[in-house]
Amino acid sequence: MSVIVYIALGSNLDMPVNHIQRACQELGALPQTRSLQYSRLYQSVPHGSADQPDYINAVAELETRLPPSELLSMLQALEQAHGRVHSGEHWEPRPLDLDILMYGDQQIDGPNLQIPHPYMAERAFVLYPLAELVTDLNIPGYGMLSDLLQACPAGELVLLNEL
Ligand code: ADP
Ligand code: MG
Repeated sequence: MSVIVYIALGSNLDMPVNHIQRACQELGALPQTRSLQYSRLYQSVPHGSADQPDYINAVAELETRLPPSELLSMLQALEQAHGRVHSGEHWEPRPLDLDILMYGDQQIDGPNLQIPHPYMAERAFVLYPLAELVTDLNIPGYGMLSDLLQACPAGELVLLNEL
């Protein structure tokens, strides 16, 4: 059985736009998976340590038959292929970050995988690109995307082609 999944892409190292564009192609080429649509690219200021480069962000909609844990492993392999080194710190600069936002309407609360992604409900750089792909969406445990958007100012998030 196939499910619709949403993946958040982020990069703030080594020509981020290239990493995001290549990663979009690679997501569509994963086994048992096809890409349905991608958001436009956004630029956001980093959380955590402020002395990092800005991020480029996007969201992809895929249809997959991969189970959630296999999908996570494949995303982590893609991150590593893009040269990501895990220091164990959250919010570290990275050439590629791939987070599973939603996996159908499933809620998963495991040690290595939480879905929906726990912070998606309050992150402008997730909610705004996601809203390009769906008219509205119930995010299990968090509510409707339209309500979350209303509560989340765009802040310093900008559309890349508007810069
Ligand atoms: P962050 O994305 O929060 O900056 P990382 O990319 O370094 O952090 O991910 C840290 C861990 O988050 C991963 O090892 C992974 O096991 C875990 N994780 C939990 N839920 C998810 C999810 N929905 N998508 C991606 N990774 C997840
Ligand atoms: Mg991540």
